[in-house]
Amino acid sequence: MTLASVPVSRQPISKLEGIVGEYRWRRLLHTAHDFREHFKDRVIWNVSSTATGGGVAEMLRTLVGYVQDLEIDSRWSVISGEPEFFRVTKRLHNRIHGQPGDTGALGIGEDTIYREVALTNAAALSSRISPGDLVILHDPQTAGLTSPLQRLGARVLWRCHIGTEQRNGYTREAWQFLRPHLASAEGFIFSRRQYVPDWVDPAKVWIIPPSIDPFSVKNQDLDEATVVAILHRIGVLAEPGMGAGPDRAATGAGRDAGRGAGAGSGTVAAPRFTRRDGSQGEVVRPALVTAHRLPHPGEQVVVQVSRWDRLKDMAGVMRGFTEHVAPASPGYLMLVGPAVSGVADDPEGAEVYADCLDSWRRLPRSAVERVALVTLPLEDVDENAAMVNAIQRYASVLVQKSLAEGFGLTVAEGMWKRRPVVGAAVGGIRDQLAEGSGILLPDPTDLAAFGRAVRHLLDNPELAERLGTSAREYVRAHFVGDVHLIRYAQMFTALFV
Ligand code: UDP
Repeated sequence: MTLASVPVSRQPISKLEGIVGEYRWRRLLHTAHDFREHFKDRVIWNVSSTATGGGVAEMLRTLVGYVQDLEIDSRWSVISGEPEFFRVTKRLHNRIHGQPGDTGALGIGEDTIYREVALTNAAALSSRISPGDLVILHDPQTAGLTSPLQRLGARVLWRCHIGTEQRNGYTREAWQFLRPHLASAEGFIFSRRQYVPDWVDPAKVWIIPPSIDPFSVKNQDLDEATVVAILHRIGVLAEPGMGAGPDRAATGAGRDAGRGAGAGSGTVAAPRFTRRDGSQGEVVRPALVTAHRLPHPGEQVVVQVSRWDRLKDMAGVMRGFTEHVAPASPGYLMLVGPAVSGVADDPEGAEVYADCLDSWRRLPRSAVERVALVTLPLEDVDENAAMVNAIQRYASVLVQKSLAEGFGLTVAEGMWKRRPVVGAAVGGIRDQLAEGSGILLPDPTDLAAFGRAVRHLLDNPELAERLGTSAREYVRAHFVGDVHLIRYAQMFTALFV
């Protein structure tokens, strides 16, 4: 059990110029120049709780690599802890979102576990951090490192990627637990102003929404033949002439099954992608696919990609689709998430997935034929990202029907790919599906409304295309990395210069 340094390959940031245009690009270069002048040899440390799975890992992989290319020393470490620690932090995560999670307490015993893990990890960092270094601790799992790292002379900020507008007994309990650990933090970063608890000094608060990277493996362009080849390889599309039994983990060769949007039929492509380090990668592993039948060529596919977390409400998506889309419209649903053993800081994943599987098994025959549960292997992070990329691109409609959501990177990822997105009007999804860039569901528990929105898009491909086009522009304007990095630089400068 040791803290791990995550190796991040330097990312040529000049690639962004073609996406963001000359004005934004120059602004970024000026900002980086000033930052280097002010902070000279100081290192920026990011400390999080997992290197794979979830939005924080996704973002750090990109941003740390870009910052390195701006000749600023930036690193990423991942804490480790016993399962008991992650049960406590998952409880904190749920309660910050206003939900109980499990029935466990957040008392003295839990605080002892939490402190010990923080001290152990801070001790592991002590030989690497120098006085004056800038540290960003990400999310509740790492908040306990604030004081121990400050004692080493580091300047410590805490970034909270989660939150809810709602205040209730659970949110108060979670903040009461975390507050003493954060008492000396020099700055706080939240994705939305509504998430800031009232005990935080407003002068120390920075609002910085997340961003996506158009060049990451998750978002890089893939042509349609490659998309189809990847889907064949992971086993979520039937090869012509093949069916699928339940719980089939299938591999497929790269034959084009065609797609609703008109893939060049007969085109044969390899399931290839470009890795973060620039080398060529190929999708080789199959997914675990639970399906009676796979989508046939041309069948419209509705997709939600997320971790197996109750707040993502995969089970609700399944019900909404089988009860309010499938009876009246054609179409097929894929619920896609990581392999359940793969996300170390998410102990509930296996349980939530098992519940979904159980609900799937209970579906009536006519409905079960229209739904697949898919878990994607995480052994190779780039391969996993290429799989998500291809699945999101293949979707006719992407949904993110979360009950609570800090930001919801999957929404921006889909929007960047010009997909029409149906999202719950919760948390950061609201900021992304702005007027005309997608469909917001005022009440995520209203499954009939969810079904209507999905059907509306399945039935109106022109509307879907229009939304997709504005979605991409909205992401370009608001959620690409230059905006994010400039906000960081402004914050460090305001706080420490
Ligand atoms: N993700 C992934 N593989 C999966 C499922 C999800 O890489 O099997 C990614 C997804 O593409 C997104 C991130 O995990 O980049 C989830 O971020 P989001 O902000 O949507 O939710 P979070 O998991 O942080 O609550």
